[in-house]
Amino acid sequence: MTFALIVVCSLAGAFAVAWWLERRRHLVAEENHRRDLAEQRAHRVDELREQTERTVALFDRMVEGLIVVDAAGRIRVANRAAGALFGFAPPATDCTILEATRHHEVAALATRLEREGEILGHELRLEAVGPLRFLQVNALALRDPAGRWDGAILVFHDLTRLRQLEAVRQEFVANVSHELRTPLSLIKSAAETLLDGGKDDAAALTRFLQIIDKHANRLTLLIDDLLMLSTLDSGNVRLNLQPVSLRAAVQEAIDDLKMRAGSRGFTLENNVTADLIAQADSDRLRQVLSNLLDNAIKYGRLEGRAAVSAQVIDKRVEVAVRDDGPGIAPDACARIFERFYRADKARSREQGGTGLGLAIVKHVVQAHGGEVRVESNPGAGATFFFTLPVA
Ligand code: ADP
Repeated sequence: MTFALIVVCSLAGAFAVAWWLERRRHLVAEENHRRDLAEQRAHRVDELREQTERTVALFDRMVEGLIVVDAAGRIRVANRAAGALFGFAPPATDCTILEATRHHEVAALATRLEREGEILGHELRLEAVGPLRFLQVNALALRDPAGRWDGAILVFHDLTRLRQLEAVRQEFVANVSHELRTPLSLIKSAAETLLDGGKDDAAALTRFLQIIDKHANRLTLLIDDLLMLSTLDSGNVRLNLQPVSLRAAVQEAIDDLKMRAGSRGFTLENNVTADLIAQADSDRLRQVLSNLLDNAIKYGRLEGRAAVSAQVIDKRVEVAVRDDGPGIAPDACARIFERFYRADKARSREQGGTGLGLAIVKHVVQAHGGEVRVESNPGAGATFFFTLPVA
């Protein structure tokens, strides 16, 4: 009996130990599993955080503006370019798209997307807030797994600069066509008059041939100036930079124009001191000086005077071409370096001006790293300034 009791107790003890060991093993396994899960979760959270940071950094590097909105039109994601385009500080997740962009047209796109699903290549002209801008929008509606509207992703491409360049190009083509057509139609009508019998009258023959010659020359000048501007525009001008004596360069330009000045009783003065040496392309520099002095003669008064002087300011030499002509009105001063802009149209045409001389001057000076400007008091002459690096 006692033996049986001992056996039963031993067995019960053995079971209890086995059960305890098994339970302990189970608890340890559970604990390990829980720890693994927690580690995996922490790892996944880190991964997601990294992924989100990478995506946001990627969005911020985009040139295009990107805005993601939820179903209520509130911003979920907005990149830096979108902030710059519309003038808000990303991420702006507490704003609606209307509050952030301040443009109803943009907010209306989100509503349109709910109906249409996607919008491709849509152009927006924004002028209600800030300066006029042109944007191209590509956008896609977001749907949840059940296919319900869940917001939208909108990408904005800024076309403003492109549109401005396009407008400048169109205006330039229109101007060139007009400038070419005027001398051509004069040449054509002179030739027609000669063919219609004008050639039989010696005086008329000479007069009309002179007209043809004058306007053919004008066409040549215009085409030369256009080619020059196109070369300067292409950025392919190779400047042969070397130390140039300014006084000598001015004297050469004055000598070239002596006859022209003489025919109007005009005096050209060289007041540049011999010590001034600029780092410049001597041919281009002569072109700048000739253009400015030629204008002083063309638009100055009969028996007028123009003087060239120069001084060093902050490692730059500033050249001034001053005349005592009628001067230029303030609104014209602001536009005078634009292509085909003429302050005095009739005078320019009569003098065979192409309207491109000062645009060429500006380009050449800028290619040297310098600047041009004009100062004038109407009735009291004009002074054109340009700067060049000192050698
Ligand atoms: P253009 O071929 O007509 O001379 P420019 O570009 O050289 O073209 O000059 C533009 C316009 O600036 C001229 O048409 C003229 O009206 C004005 N202008 C230039 N220089 C002077 C000046 N020294 N005095 C008065 N007007 C000037």
